[in-house]
Amino acid sequence: MRYDQETYRKAMQTLDRRRREAEQTAAAHKREVVAASPRAAAIFNELAQTGPLSTRIFLSGKDVHARMEKLRQHNLALQAELRTLVAQMGKPASYLDAAYTCPFCRDTGYIDGKMCDCLKTELRRILYEDLNSRAPLSLSTFDTFSLDYYPEQAEEGRPSPRALMERTLLYCRQYAANFSAHAPSMLFQGGTGLGKTHLSLAIANEVLGRGYGVVYGTAQNLATMLENERFADEESGTQENLLSCDLLILDDLGTEFSNQFVLSAFYNMINTRLLTQKPTIISTNLTLRELEDKYGVRIVSRIIGAYEVRVFAGNDVRQILRREKMNAARRGDSPRSQG
Ligand SMILES: [Zn+2]
Repeated sequence: MRYDQETYRKAMQTLDRRRREAEQTAAAHKREVVAASPRAAAIFNELAQTGPLSTRIFLSGKDVHARMEKLRQHNLALQAELRTLVAQMGKPASYLDAAYTCPFCRDTGYIDGKMCDCLKTELRRILYEDLNSRAPLSLSTFDTFSLDYYPEQAEEGRPSPRALMERTLLYCRQYAANFSAHAPSMLFQGGTGLGKTHLSLAIANEVLGRGYGVVYGTAQNLATMLENERFADEESGTQENLLSCDLLILDDLGTEFSNQFVLSAFYNMINTRLLTQKPTIISTNLTLRELEDKYGVRIVSRIIGAYEVRVFAGNDVRQILRREKMNAARRGDSPRSQG
């Protein structure tokens, strides 16, 4: 996935800071050793002459190979002597080396022009943090999703909400465990407080943990971000990121304030992701009919045709929780969590 400029900038900032700190510490250690030992100072001076010396040897053209080898051996001996001096001062052997967080790229983020794993990890961490600041991921895992809130009573020929949700929970767990770049898209449809957001976030949590780029936002959030980008001088990469992330989770579709711009931006997003086979999870309180009224037949038929539709049933979990909380407060113990 392509990360937006802000995420990339933050990640590179972290790596730059690590590199600077490692090099500043090494420089401070060098100053300390030089101040304590005149012999160490002399060795550093001599080592600093290596560049000019080897240039002179090359330019002279005489016995280049043998003289370069002699210089190399001499340098190795000086470095060994330096290590001994450092050890005599009671310091560890690596005291003069810059202690990079990532020894592979030396905290530059790139190896031979390719992004190093440490930079990828940092980019994911920032996305995760960003997502977490908007929705507490730790509270919304599969393990904290309780089926207890869903009635066991079957309704006229239909399975009970609990049986239905048990299947949906299993489906979502498998979806997250088997997630790939071309996993199917899903529509979570059902009333408020039936656990749609909880399961979306549980999927996000696990898919992020497996190293994929996930963008999560409520429809209102995303609409605002797109509107801001539209009027900004600089592109912030929102549109680009919504189109290219590995998994897009569009929560609460239908609750946003929408205008023609937002509608066509959403249509473009949904359509482009379908065409490029990138998975999207949309949740909505609206019925398919209401979705059609708001977004038009075109977009809804695209969704019905290509998305796996999961209908959520039961009673509003938030209402149940609120009641439990009130009862618990009366009793003086703490309630369970599920939203
Ligand atoms: Zn690295």
